[in-house]
Amino acid sequence: MNRSLVEGLDLDTLAPGELHERWLHLVDDAMALPVRLPLMVARGGPGPVIGLTAAVHGDEINGIAIIHELFRKLDLRTLRGTVAAIPITNVSAFHRHQRYATPGYDLNHYFPGAAEGADIQVYAHRLLDRFVRHLDALIDLHTASRGRANCLYVRADMNQEETARMAYLQRPHVILHNPASDGTLRGAASALGVPAITVEVGNPNRFQSEYIRSSVVGLRAVLGERGMIPRRSVRLGPPPVLCASGTWLYTDSGGLLTVEPQVTDRVREGEVVAELRDAFGRSVRTYRAPFDGVVIGRAVDPVAITGSRILHLGRPAEQGAGFVRRADG
Ligand SMILES: [Zn+2]
Repeated sequence: MNRSLVEGLDLDTLAPGELHERWLHLVDDAMALPVRLPLMVARGGPGPVIGLTAAVHGDEINGIAIIHELFRKLDLRTLRGTVAAIPITNVSAFHRHQRYATPGYDLNHYFPGAAEGADIQVYAHRLLDRFVRHLDALIDLHTASRGRANCLYVRADMNQEETARMAYLQRPHVILHNPASDGTLRGAASALGVPAITVEVGNPNRFQSEYIRSSVVGLRAVLGERGMIPRRSVRLGPPPVLCASGTWLYTDSGGLLTVEPQVTDRVREGEVVAELRDAFGRSVRTYRAPFDGVVIGRAVDPVAITGSRILHLGRPAEQGAGFVRRADG
């Protein structure tokens, strides 16, 4: 395998019908050595170029296994178009087993970055310039942050046909309508004309085989719908819950936190969802659901200071709310 260093995704240099593995050079370290990102390119016949990124947050690693598994399953003899993936995007953060390369600096808040500027700005800019702008669509794979758990959910602009279609094809538990906010890779890709969604797959620092498996099925559905791989009928789970918005509940006091509902559970307005106890075990506070909703994510670490996250509660979209919908969603 020719794993040479490349300065960008240049499809003209990659022969069709083959799987290519390269090291993508973005920036250099202090020994003047290139920081290298693994770049995987499954090059089929003419067709769309679908991009995948994982570990933009260095400890969110389910996406790495998802990309590896997807590529293992691709048949290069029948593939139309190209699948290009960076399974480890934030290399320094990945080495540190941490969300950020530098504490407090979230790469996913610095897009589109800048051609010249601080390290994180240049990193963001070059990722867009050397990879993302060559794509027809992007799927960015994340997980919950440390101390929290997520269901399998998609963040996407559900007013846009193409992103809505990709979101439904993932067959997640929940789709959260979320126009891409400033600074994110998803937002910067969209601004470049590359429709993008974020798939949030479970929890950080681990490989969760069930979530990985269903995410691969979802990605294959995206490729199948575009005619890149043969469409196969898959047994679908229940339709996703489409949420118009999501709200985090926070503690307004400190203590030891117990959260009752699990991810994907439905809760009713007024239902007790969490309790805080003091260092003597006595109840300090109870927290109730502010509206009827579905649990997208939740705290799993009981140690809570004032202002700790409790629950990420999705507010299901009303019928007729104007979002792009699928017949069964
Ligand atoms: Zn993330």
